[in-house]
Parts: sequence; structure tokens; C-alpha cells
Amino acid sequence: MTYLFEPIGVIRSPYREKFGIPRQPSLVNAARVTLELLPPYNQPDAVRGLSEFSHVWISFVFHQTMDRGWQPLVRPPRLGGNAKVGVFASRSTHRPNPLGLSLVELKGVNTVNGVTLELAGADLLDGTPVVDIKPYIPFVESRPEAVGGFVDGPPPQLRVEWSDAALAQLRQPDLPPGFALLVEQVLAQDPRPAYQDDPERVYGVSLHCYNVKFKIGGDCATVLEILQ
Ligand code: SAH
Repeated sequence: MTYLFEPIGVIRSPYREKFGIPRQPSLVNAARVTLELLPPYNQPDAVRGLSEFSHVWISFVFHQTMDRGWQPLVRPPRLGGNAKVGVFASRSTHRPNPLGLSLVELKGVNTVNGVTLELAGADLLDGTPVVDIKPYIPFVESRPEAVGGFVDGPPPQLRVEWSDAALAQLRQPDLPPGFALLVEQVLAQDPRPAYQDDPERVYGVSLHCYNVKFKIGGDCATVLEILQ
């Protein structure tokens, strides 16, 4: 049997490409992310009562990678990129049905012109199609006794330093509010693929309309420059 789902909304986020997006929600909370509902769902009635919840589940489509299909075994970054686990034991984007599920903080519900939700902690690419929104219900869904398999606990974080050139560029008046904090939180997650460790290699991460160049040596990421 085939089921057809249509998006009920679309994500607007500073993450313009997959590289650099946090690997799970809530690891980076400095990103300003919105979810714009699409007609005919963008009516205040459809979200009545939602603003009383602090967190929501977002069901979405991994639209940028869905053409790549799936494999029964995947290599999670948390296992160093070598060890394999089953696709259903992972949060891999390459799944038989390319559906993602993220628990995010609901900062606001705006119903003045259509419906827009303000979210924090999202791990979502700009343009991501959203298929459903559900309120998070703490008394059933918060399980402190739960066991986290191979991802029991948060990943280690890098220190982040700024070169003099990058510090000077931070003074540009048109940078989005909170840009420096966003860069620091994103780089602290160590966006490199698991198998790469070359302190001279220069990487670039797209945030808003900027390309942030950086290097990583040991446990320290250094921001080199901010390109437009
Ligand atoms: N919390 C979700 C996603 C985990 S994977 C879940 O568990 O289902 C997180 C990764 O999804 C991010 O690092 C980013 O690289 C990727 N991602 C986010 N939005 C995407 C999209 N629209 N298409 C493809 N990959 C996406």
C-alpha cells in the first residue's frame, strides 16, 4: 500500500547546507528557526492551544538526501565512523522512508499573517518540508530511566577561538543577531566527518548567507574568516 503525505509547512533556518548542522536537536540553541505553515493549514484554529506547550515534535522529510536510498547497516558518527549498526538502531538520514523526527523548543506561535512557529534547538536544513507537528507531553515522554545505547550522553565539545581577522569581521553591522554565538555552538559540535583529523585543513560552514572558514586542531576550533 502507498500513502501520500503532503507538507503542512516549511522550515526557515540559518543552516543552508547539510555540513555543520548539529547531529541532533538541542545541541545548538542559538539558531533562530521558524516553521511557516502552508495553506490550507496556516489558519489560527489549527494551532489553537499549542502555545501552552514548551516543546513540540516536528516530523519532517530528509528531502535533500532522500534520493540516495537506504542500506540496512549505517556508520553513526558517534561510533567514530567505522562501526556499523542497523538503520533502525540509528538516527541516520538514509532510511527506507526518509522521515526525520526532532524534539524542539517552541518559543512562540505567530498567527498575525498566516501561522509561523518560532523554534529553538532545531537540527533542520533551510527549506525542510514538515509533515506534522505534535505537542511534547512530558509525563509520558520524559523517561529519565531510559538507556541510550551507543549514544548514552552528550558528545564532547570543542573549544572555539577567533582569529584577529575573524574578530574584526564580527563587527560588520549587518550580521544577524547572535551570529557569533551560533558560530561557536556549531563549531563546538565538531562538524568534521568522523575520519578526518588534519589540523591544517580549512573547512567552510554555511550559516545564513555567510561562509565561515575554520580549522580544527586537537580539541580547539579556530574561526579564520567570515566570507559573504
Ligand atoms: N533529529 C532527527 C534528525 C537526526 S539526523 C531525527 O532523529 O530524525 C540530523 C541531521 O539531519 C543533521 O545533522 C542534518 O545533516 C540532517 N538534515 C537536517 N535536515 C535535513 C533535510 N531536510 N534533508 C536531509 N538531511 C537533513
